[in-house]
Amino acid sequence: MTRERLGLMGGTFDPVHIGHLVAASTARVALQLDRVLLVVAGDPWQKHDTVVAPAEARYEMVLAACDGTDGIEASRIELERAGLTYTIDTVEELRRPEREIFVIVGADVVRTLDTWHRVDELRDLVTLAVVDREHAAPRALPEGWRAEHVAMPGLDVSSSDLRLRIAAGQPVDFLIPSPAVRVLRARGLYTSG
Ligand code: ATP
Ligand code: MG
Repeated sequence: MTRERLGLMGGTFDPVHIGHLVAASTARVALQLDRVLLVVAGDPWQKHDTVVAPAEARYEMVLAACDGTDGIEASRIELERAGLTYTIDTVEELRRPEREIFVIVGADVVRTLDTWHRVDELRDLVTLAVVDREHAAPRALPEGWRAEHVAMPGLDVSSSDLRLRIAAGQPVDFLIPSPAVRVLRARGLYTSG
């Protein structure tokens, strides 16, 4: 039996940008993943105070950004679940005997892994795919995990920075795929503060 190789890339996607998308598609090809789900966090516990856009708006932007891209999909799984968003719950919901799960994270996230909910269980269930990120330790692989490094061209883009750019009236075209820019413009997101 060949097992499906499923990638999960969680994020707040507030908003989605090319860093997320290039990371997902690079990991997909590098690790021969059948699909990568961009898992939009509903109520992310790490970012309780800083998330700006409603979950449905963040999901709509991710959906628009992935449209027509083979093997990269927007996932609502964490939006359908009440309460705080934890990766372990998503992994438990999606795990099947015939499926191997890869959790894709940027290198900046590696240093926070120890604080994740039920991390000991998560470590046993998934392979971590660590994608290079600007300003994060290069080739950072955490100890005790099944982990793969994914090399990717450095893209110095972050949602925090994009929110500031939009608020300042600066362009974000091409940093965010145009279908997603249309969504955020139509909803008037990030224009103040
Ligand atoms: P924020 O600035 O609000 O934290 P972000 O740009 O870091 O936003 P997140 O939603 O926090 O985006 O990130 C989701 C995932 O995408 C994380 O694993 C993060 O490391 C990864 N990621 C985000 N931007 C990049 C990038 N430019 N290159 C590689 N990985 C990235
Ligand atoms: Mg981040």
